[in-house]
Amino acid sequence: MDGETDDLPARQDNQVVVLGAGLAGLGFARAWPGTLVFEAKPHPGGRAWSIDIEGVFFDQGTHISHSRNDSFNDMIRQAAGKVVETEKAQVSNFWKGSWLPYPVQNHLHALPLEDRVQALADLIQARINHSDVEPPDYGAWCRGQYGEFLADRFYRVFTEKYWRAPMENLATDWLAGRLLPPDLTTVIRGALSEASEEQAHFSRFRYPERGGYFGFFESLYPKLGVQHNETAVELDLAKKEILFDSGRRQDYDILASSIPLPDLVEAVKDAPTSVREAAARLSWTKLLCVNLLIERKSLSDLHWFYTYDPDQHTARAYLPRNLSPGMVAEGITALQAEVFRRNDEPWDPESLAEEMIDQMASLLRFSAKRDLRVASPVVVRYAYVVSDHARAAAVAHILAWLRERDVFCMGLYGKWKYVWSDYAYLSGVETAAEVRERLCRT
Ligand SMILES: Cc1cc2nc3c(=O)[nH]c(=O)nc-3n(C[C@H](O)[C@H](O)[C@H](O)COP(=O)(O)OP(=O)(O)OC[C@H]3O[C@@H](n4cnc5c(N)ncnc54)[C@H](O)[C@@H]3O)c2cc1C
Repeated sequence: MDGETDDLPARQDNQVVVLGAGLAGLGFARAWPGTLVFEAKPHPGGRAWSIDIEGVFFDQGTHISHSRNDSFNDMIRQAAGKVVETEKAQVSNFWKGSWLPYPVQNHLHALPLEDRVQALADLIQARINHSDVEPPDYGAWCRGQYGEFLADRFYRVFTEKYWRAPMENLATDWLAGRLLPPDLTTVIRGALSEASEEQAHFSRFRYPERGGYFGFFESLYPKLGVQHNETAVELDLAKKEILFDSGRRQDYDILASSIPLPDLVEAVKDAPTSVREAAARLSWTKLLCVNLLIERKSLSDLHWFYTYDPDQHTARAYLPRNLSPGMVAEGITALQAEVFRRNDEPWDPESLAEEMIDQMASLLRFSAKRDLRVASPVVVRYAYVVSDHARAAAVAHILAWLRERDVFCMGLYGKWKYVWSDYAYLSGVETAAEVRERLCRT
């Protein structure tokens, strides 16, 4: 891939420092040998890190690679060694006590007759009324694409579970490549018969045979010499100096940061009010992953599933064995249930985890008392960036101000943009090119 090297890093004249050894940090460091990388955690990988529980690697929320970037795919395939290639994802929605294939608009046959008729009539009406005027928010987009019935009964309910926000609060700038406009022929076929075509972005995907999602990246890190257990706590942009929680001070000429923007702004000494206010407008979700090892042979063939009912805490769950069959011993089901909360919502992860376990037990029919071998809840402080109406302008203001002071932001939480791992990696590679250009100009 362009700009990459496997050589050992060599020192540069200009001191370039990277904050964060997630995938953006990895992309940058591979494109810029000699860069110093500081990472808060004792391990690299960031959000793409996988946690080993009795030999089963659980990701931090369901992770699969559905990248369409050939060079990225070549890189991760080579780095992982063996990869499981899945041609057709098995995904379902749990709704009112039964399973609906995913995506719902292509499988209307599974709805009760009256609902099916209403859903189809509303969707066709929405297509007839369709105009090219940009919808003002995600709610309007959904109603325009899927019709009132599906937008309100499914998309609205799920948005509130997943994004913890009303649909009208979300912008539409995150949709490209994620939600597909419905194909009317597919919708009608799916309403009349069970043999509907798949029409989803993530139907075809890959996953490492070993090591969980991090197995794609693990072998790329050792040569980078990442400095672990170094959390940047203060940033003096005038002196160009970083203070870490270890007491270490590090000077730099250019700083490339992949740490979450709210934390970065918080660390900046003397940031102006407008920048602090912009950072305060950023919204995100936190995530509780409840990782379970259940002493029951495979409880489901699904790769992952969503639950639509509001009283089910879990928004999504996945089964590691179905992503990589060799990873889980026979006779055991590994399951991860995910629940999201807005960053500012109070929560009690411990009791939430207990309730989720009971709910999953009744949904997948196992005994939470007898069958549970391991239950390991993990909290992820930053999960998804919420693309609400405030995001774009707030991010543009913060990034422009930082860039003028030689701080380049990259990755999911640096650009503060809802992006996949391929983009996160490539944004590191691209940021290295921008830094090179910036240094050439001086
Ligand atoms: C729930 C969920 C599911 C996802 N599923 C998929 C998927 O299926 N497929 C896909 O391709 N992508 C998926 N993604 C996206 C993917 O995980 C990210 O895009 C990618 O891992 C982000 O990498 P990054 O380097 O930008 O950020 P991070 O991975 O967050 O890296 C930032 C690093 O900075 C470190 N850090 C933070 N603060 C400091 C500090 N003060 N000092 C020093 N270091 C610090 C962190 O520890 C971290 O290692 C998912 C994301 C989420 C949240």
